[in-house]
Amino acid sequence: AKNNPNEPEFLQAVREVAETVIPFIEKNPKYQGKMLLERMVEPERVMMFRVAWVDDKGQTQVNKGYRIQMNSAIGPYKGGLRFHPSVNLSILKFLAFEQVFKNSLTTLPMGGGKGGSNFDPKGKSDTEIMRFCQAFMTELARHIGADTDVPAGDIGVGGREVGYMFGQYKKLRNEFTGVLTGKGITFGGSLIRPEATGYGDVYFAYNMLKTRGESFDGKTVVISGSGNVAQYAAEKARQLGGKVVTLSDSSGYIYDAEGIDEEKLAYVMEIKNVNYGRISDYLNKYPNAKFVAGKTPWEVKCDIALPCATQNELNGDDAKMLVANGCICVAEGANMPSTPEAVIVFQDAKILFAPGKASNAGGVATSGLEMSQNSLRLSWTSEEVDDRLKRIMYNIHESCVEYGSDGSGYVDYVKGANVAGFVKVADAMLAQGVV
Ligand code: NDP
Repeated sequence: AKNNPNEPEFLQAVREVAETVIPFIEKNPKYQGKMLLERMVEPERVMMFRVAWVDDKGQTQVNKGYRIQMNSAIGPYKGGLRFHPSVNLSILKFLAFEQVFKNSLTTLPMGGGKGGSNFDPKGKSDTEIMRFCQAFMTELARHIGADTDVPAGDIGVGGREVGYMFGQYKKLRNEFTGVLTGKGITFGGSLIRPEATGYGDVYFAYNMLKTRGESFDGKTVVISGSGNVAQYAAEKARQLGGKVVTLSDSSGYIYDAEGIDEEKLAYVMEIKNVNYGRISDYLNKYPNAKFVAGKTPWEVKCDIALPCATQNELNGDDAKMLVANGCICVAEGANMPSTPEAVIVFQDAKILFAPGKASNAGGVATSGLEMSQNSLRLSWTSEEVDDRLKRIMYNIHESCVEYGSDGSGYVDYVKGANVAGFVKVADAMLAQGVV
């Protein structure tokens, strides 16, 4: 903690990993004495830079830009870019650290990284977004490359932003490579990449539920967020027979007791992806639903909860409420949405709980598949990518069970994900020497 002052999110993420990995290291002499965990918590490289751009009024704006290259033991750095006013070094280091373990779990050859800016996309015009993305990439371009570091989207960075950044990279470097994932289908993007994180989260929950003879069928599902991950988690949960009753954004949540069906979800996608509006706009078309301002949806009674908005959005009291209301399964679509207190509540109640680094790994896994397709210069069908995604989520679940079973039938998915993710990176670091 004294080496990383003012980095609470980063320390939170490291502590959670250390608590499960240190006991494993103590039992396995091979991993002792090489300062493995100490090396893993230190980013290989951190870039911080100025992003200056001109807004529609002709005024100059200045933002902070970052790229954290955390660990390249098992492949090129890989991880998204986040544009949100809350972005700082601590948040990006926590995300980059988590990404190392997550990418290892996917079984694909990807190291870990993360980046972004404190730029606030809300209320910006399309041309302002484009100029910002170009200014951001003008600096970032010198640090990344298809075999070095391959960024993708995250909060505030979707297909539109990736497109603008890809265009600028191509112009600066005069090369057409798979330097970013989440690209448009017409220029190297992969089918199912937009859906992958949300779908993957539901596939993971499906595998967890199966261990207890349960499924999504007929279950009430509460989801937070209404962005990329939340939208496709809602779609897949519904396709598997679940009834999704909530979605949210930073202003509050909507509750639709009748369930958010295909048509209603299409409207959410229009609100969020076309009009860049607020989730409360849902009531314009579906006035029977309720909008609860300034709150998260965890007070709504449900069987399955999928937190898909942001870090620390579900605290200990929320967790107690979920458990008391009979929730049997929580699968994180966002990164670290549950606070440490909430995780303890879920684990003490012995309900199914999956940490984001396992259950949301489908996004980066499909980014890995996009990289493969770009290298091969061909594209796979939706079915092919979806099948691979399903298989990857199944395998991640198996790894968690292997390393997280306590012998009594209970699976600690936090321990399972951390240890399974650690082993592969640690073995590669040992083989590559102290560098
Ligand atoms: P989007 O930008 O598409 O959506 C983010 C959603 O979360 C919006 O509904 C947003 O509401 C809400 N949100 C963001 N910040 C806050 C906040 N501080 N308080 C309350 N609500 C907030 O992002 P994604 O769906 O891509 O990402 C969501 C989560 O999933 C993040 O934790 C991300 O790291 C994680 N993730 C994403 C992956 C991907 O492939 N995109 C892969 C793996 C993990 P509002 O519009 O009001 O800001």
